[in-house]
Amino acid sequence: MVLAKRATLISPSLTLGITAKVNQLCSQGIDVIGFGAGEPDFDTPVYIKEEAIRALNSGFTKYTATSGIKELKEAIIAKFQRDNRLVYTPEEIIVSCGAKHSLYNAIQVLCEKGDEAILASPYWNSYLEMIKLSGAKPVIIKTKEKDGFKILPEALQQKISPKTKLLILNSPSNPTGTVYTPVEIKALGRIIADNNIMTISDEIYEKLIYSDVVPVSLASLSDKLKSLTLVINGVSKTYAMTGWRIGYAAGSKEIIKAMTNLQDHSTSNPVSFVQKAAVVALNGPQNELETMRQEFKKRRDYMVARVNSLKGLSCLNPDGAFYVFANVKKLFNKNIKGLEVKDSLSLAECWLNEARVAVVPGAAFGADNYVRFSYATSFEKIKTGLDRIETLINKYY
Ligand SMILES: *Cc1c(COP(=O)(O)O)cnc(C)c1O
Repeated sequence: MVLAKRATLISPSLTLGITAKVNQLCSQGIDVIGFGAGEPDFDTPVYIKEEAIRALNSGFTKYTATSGIKELKEAIIAKFQRDNRLVYTPEEIIVSCGAKHSLYNAIQVLCEKGDEAILASPYWNSYLEMIKLSGAKPVIIKTKEKDGFKILPEALQQKISPKTKLLILNSPSNPTGTVYTPVEIKALGRIIADNNIMTISDEIYEKLIYSDVVPVSLASLSDKLKSLTLVINGVSKTYAMTGWRIGYAAGSKEIIKAMTNLQDHSTSNPVSFVQKAAVVALNGPQNELETMRQEFKKRRDYMVARVNSLKGLSCLNPDGAFYVFANVKKLFNKNIKGLEVKDSLSLAECWLNEARVAVVPGAAFGADNYVRFSYATSFEKIKTGLDRIETLINKYY
């Protein structure tokens, strides 16, 4: 059998590989502390669940419009007005099966062979794979830790070519937690507008910010930037609804229409009764978000201090999301119980075997000198996991 070339271009997910190993160890009764999670550990708020149950019991179980029910589009439009001072019409909104699905549809309808798509590293791995799947060439801006892992305007300018079709921005960022300030977004916005570059702004972690940086959507800076920007957001990270699969995109009618056509012939609508629950998530009381945010902040503060106190590790203090991206380069070039620790993959393997702690190797994000710790796990587990790493480091370094 010969697979389509397209299929052979996709790399397996390193993150899922680690997860599989963790699950295997756990099933053998070995207790592993997992820092791999890319999702909130909190349960979905009760009033959201109740709405899904109500909709289900009332028989709201049939196909809906592919791009989402009217009420949900209205709730999304209200959210953009409230949070981002952005005004959209229903034809400028699509609801998909997760923000990831919106991203996939967008990249498929925008990019093709011969195009270049610019993204920053460290990157969220799916961007890279989605670009490759579209046939376009990923063009990577290597951001530096000393610049807070931010794209500098001159670095963006340098990567723009006549083939540039798309730029992807992600603030707050997965995996670094970096949040761009309004001034920084404006500086990038000038280059984007001057060069007419279509930009995807992935704002999925918008509500998880722990400093006084006010998130600004690129789309809200000018009419021109609004027409060039496709905003991606969703309920997964904000409302602890990762498994429910609701994400959305807002942008020009033309792109939204093309994305809807693609969705028409792939998944059709996102789950009917889940859309009803998403309406309640967006329109309902938002106080539980603040409770979750405060808890994440407490964990972040603790984790950052602990990581920086460990020999050979260092990290920035990330302003958003729920990840700490730690520099572990000083721990390389060491043989531990026969395993040559020489890069982020072997370090992650060593920590899993010898300390029973799982992290995601930076190689998954195009940054091999780092590992990603997620603090979307209990304070107790964070403490135990870091204690274990400390013990291992004190023993071998
Ligand atoms: C989690 C995540 C998404 C996808 O969210 P879903 O709505 O669950 O598909 C998109 N972008 C980034 C950067 C993420 O970390």
